[in-house]
Amino acid sequence: LRDGRPARQMPFGPDSLTRVILVSSGKGGVGKSTVTANLAVALAQRGLRVGLVDADVHGFSIPGLLGITPGTQPTRIDDLMLPPVAHDVKTVSIGMFLREGEGVVAWRGPMLHRTVQQFLTDVFFGDLDVLLIDMPPGTGDVAISIGQILPHAEVLVVTTPQPAAADVAIRSGLVARQTGQRVIGVVENMAALTLPDGTVLDLFGSGGGAEVAEALSADENVPLLASIPLSPALRQGGDSGEPVVLARPDDVAAQAIITLARDI
Ligand code: ADP
Repeated sequence: LRDGRPARQMPFGPDSLTRVILVSSGKGGVGKSTVTANLAVALAQRGLRVGLVDADVHGFSIPGLLGITPGTQPTRIDDLMLPPVAHDVKTVSIGMFLREGEGVVAWRGPMLHRTVQQFLTDVFFGDLDVLLIDMPPGTGDVAISIGQILPHAEVLVVTTPQPAAADVAIRSGLVARQTGQRVIGVVENMAALTLPDGTVLDLFGSGGGAEVAEALSADENVPLLASIPLSPALRQGGDSGEPVVLARPDDVAAQAIITLARDI
């Protein structure tokens, strides 16, 4: 009982028909949030009912990427919280649950665990086909909490082509698997950029995505699901809150994400 009322059931338990996909990376800055936001919008464009939880306690970048005005809160109706909807994606961010002036830096594991659990029980998403969760990078408290709360979740690992990113991405995939989750594939982001004169610029090297997929395929096959090139339009779409899959669907990175949303 909470406040005299029976506690609500966690809606994304093992019996749920919603696919829960955790988007993870070994380290920050590989474009995990950018890919997650665009993937969510591309899935919604396919006509799926999509929810997105920003659990990246170090970043909270999802609302900005989707053009949600800073300070936007879930709408409270009695004890229900309805998530803001951006580009047909129902979105909540852990940042929306902070009190003014409160930072997450001071939070300890149990506090984060409770907050994540609250996200998933108190926010009313309604029936969803897919719930994406933008995870904090690495294998810290939140990753372990979510692993416990959603043991049937699937995991998508994002890496860049760079060996240093690939190594830590492999580790995050292995940890997810230890908590019983299934790694469904690898997404390589920031892959080579083709310049207008045809020159290929592989700023972050090449091969990281394939390397991660191969390393995680020891027990069961983990495919490289997409290789998303470096793209100024993808970056711009994030800065402006107008995701590239909507603003510039012909862009090479947008195409890779739209294809990923079809294949996933
Ligand atoms: P993470 O969530 O992994 O920390 P972000 O999604 O915040 O990473 O991306 C980090 C930065 O890289 C952002 O400025 C974003 O716009 C940029 N970015 C991400 N992917 C690409 C890409 N494919 N091409 C160009 N810029 C990108």
